[in-house]
Amino acid sequence: METYKMFIGGEWVESSENQVLKVLNPSTGLPVASVQSASRDDVGKAIDAARNSFDSGIWSRATPGDRSNVLLKVADLIEKNQDKFIKVETENSGKSIKQISGYDIPYTVDNIRFLAGACRTLEGKAMNEYVADGTSAIRREPIGAIGIITPWNYPLMMVVWRAFPALAMGNSVVVKPASYTPLTTLMLADILKEAGVPDGVFNVITGPGSSVGEEMAKSEKLDMIAFTGSTEVGKRLSVLAASNLKKVSLELGGKAPFIVFKDANIDAAVESAIVGGLVNNGQDCANSTRYYIQEEVFDKFVSLLKKRIQKLRIGDPMDPSTDMGPLISETQRERVEGYIEKGIKEGGKLLSGGERPEIPGHKKGYYINPALIYTENEDSAIVKEEIFGPVFTILKFKDYNDAIRRSNDVTYGLGSSVWTSDITTAMRATRDLRFGTVWVNEHVVVPSEMPWAGYKESGHGASLSPYSLEEFTYIKHVYFDLTGKVRKDWYDQIFKG
Ligand code: NAD
Repeated sequence: METYKMFIGGEWVESSENQVLKVLNPSTGLPVASVQSASRDDVGKAIDAARNSFDSGIWSRATPGDRSNVLLKVADLIEKNQDKFIKVETENSGKSIKQISGYDIPYTVDNIRFLAGACRTLEGKAMNEYVADGTSAIRREPIGAIGIITPWNYPLMMVVWRAFPALAMGNSVVVKPASYTPLTTLMLADILKEAGVPDGVFNVITGPGSSVGEEMAKSEKLDMIAFTGSTEVGKRLSVLAASNLKKVSLELGGKAPFIVFKDANIDAAVESAIVGGLVNNGQDCANSTRYYIQEEVFDKFVSLLKKRIQKLRIGDPMDPSTDMGPLISETQRERVEGYIEKGIKEGGKLLSGGERPEIPGHKKGYYINPALIYTENEDSAIVKEEIFGPVFTILKFKDYNDAIRRSNDVTYGLGSSVWTSDITTAMRATRDLRFGTVWVNEHVVVPSEMPWAGYKESGHGASLSPYSLEEFTYIKHVYFDLTGKVRKDWYDQIFKG
């Protein structure tokens, strides 16, 4: 079993307090590796490394073209080493090898290539004389030393979504991955070094969020925290970050509605509901979770969905035919089971699933069968709160206004989808749904070129797209006087000469 060190200032180092944490395989419950648990001192060293590298200008003053070339090399190196990334990510996250090799890794590589290219094509307001006697210009500049805190559901991808736009724009970063899934983030450090990212620009520290993450959020030497994770922790970080008013960028939880009108292609909606609801074993912030189905097609949709769920192959994540693996941890499984119980107690009817399946050779894995629950209780926890597991909450609606009003009536605002063959209904819904993404006759797709961003308590800021690059910059106005006069004409309006 490998013991990973932390990557600080271009060196692999152990915890100064000799503390290590076990990392488990969720499909067996057995350890796969151990990692360091950073002490306060280690956190300080990583932040200093980022701060000093930023201040030195070695990366922040490199041209966009030079940074881009290095990041493109990173993408090539991930591809070259993809077998190892796929194996480690599958073992560590419990997601199917099919998803990781077919989607997570190639998509992540595409994300990097997009960001590397896009940082060379920054756009902005034209340089011009917005007042008669002076020329104004806009500069976009890196923010500085940035703390990046990531979740366990897409370990490698989430680091790329947050750290790579930051790096592309010339910032230095300290990354703290989730304690369940730190391995591919640590592997990434070697790749960045090989590609030519200067020492100190990319640092990785590991350990509990409650100590390491909080220390980062409080640090007066960091200029920004970019966090992807739960809304609860996002709120806590915002409070801690106020110590030096560092910028905070938050990508948080979701509770996506999936609205099916009676004129929709129901077969297509059911196929997408399976992927939308169960991608990443039901642990995706974009997961469709609230299925609002118009009464006329309700029975058809539910009976097709039930049949389709029965065909799923739940099993060993390393088996290429497996569709769905275990949840990330026992705690997560108990949380999901708790929600199913609560949903039933609050008036819901369990239509199928929710049990622990027997997977040969994986008795200690954190498996659960997808659950289908019908409820008429709009205030039930399974309708309002993020479960983050394979639970389909099915609801019935009467008409357009009813569907949109109830879909919007949550604190979250990340993904949403609408299923209809009527263009007017689709266009109205894209206007009326208060979510950062609205899919029409689809769910989950996010091209690298488009933003992934939240409304309301799903956070603020954006991942992917040119908007994510702007997120990691300060905006600077530069003004050039064109008169050369000692006293400009407008001074008289303030003080007479
Ligand atoms: P989490 O909030 O529990 O943890 C995320 C990270 O924060 C981890 O690295 C953790 O160690 C750290 N952390 C925990 N407590 C902390 C504290 N007090 N101070 C500082 N850091 C702390 O989230 P999770 O369970 O890892 O991930 C699931 C959540 O992430 C879900 O809510 C999901 O919707 C959200 N998510 C959102 C997006 C998005 O793009 N909006 C993407 C993926 C996941």
